[in-house]
Amino acid sequence: MSGKSINLVFLGAPGAGKGTQTKRLIKNFHFTHLSTGDLLRKLIVEKHPLGIKAKSFMDEGSLVPDSLIIDMIKTQMTKKKGYVFDGFPRTLAQAEALDQITNIDKVVFLDIPQKEVIRRLTGRRICRKCGFEYHVEFLPSKKGKVCEKCGGNLYQRDDDKEGVIKKRLSVFTSLTTPLIQYYENKLLRMQAIGTVEEIYKKITEGLNLSS
Ligand SMILES: [Zn+2]
Repeated sequence: MSGKSINLVFLGAPGAGKGTQTKRLIKNFHFTHLSTGDLLRKLIVEKHPLGIKAKSFMDEGSLVPDSLIIDMIKTQMTKKKGYVFDGFPRTLAQAEALDQITNIDKVVFLDIPQKEVIRRLTGRRICRKCGFEYHVEFLPSKKGKVCEKCGGNLYQRDDDKEGVIKKRLSVFTSLTTPLIQYYENKLLRMQAIGTVEEIYKKITEGLNLSS
């Protein structure tokens, strides 16, 4: 199967490696990436009427309504198939709305134990100067608490702290559980454990994609 003939949704907890895997898949199989976060920013910058409308909700501190997000997605869908939806749907209502405008063929769920997410995320350290990302366990700086490339100080982002991660995971689980039931027949559930290569291989095999 080539990427041109299917529509995919990717689900994955923070830290499951969703961004890394989707990027690679999109590049190798020529999917069109539909990230609602990127799309929102783009339409706002372009002063597109839908972007202006969305911004008025955001300025009030409100969520952008699902119907508006769906309209934004529609503006980008110039063909029938070959999309990877990223960051959408997040809720059951959004999944139902998405089914009104297109047909989703497969849903990839990158499953990962909470303990592993905490290990991956709490170990991240970022260089204040050059932004390079280290990991205390997987990719430590040879110079300890300073960047080995530029000598800048390394720090931990606030949202990489354990309490914040646990909160994000619990929000994710409560929103995603009904989605997983909704997509039961299309679901390709896989343990997101192992190297990036190994997980990528499992995904492409599971989707019957061959290069
Ligand atoms: Zn640095």
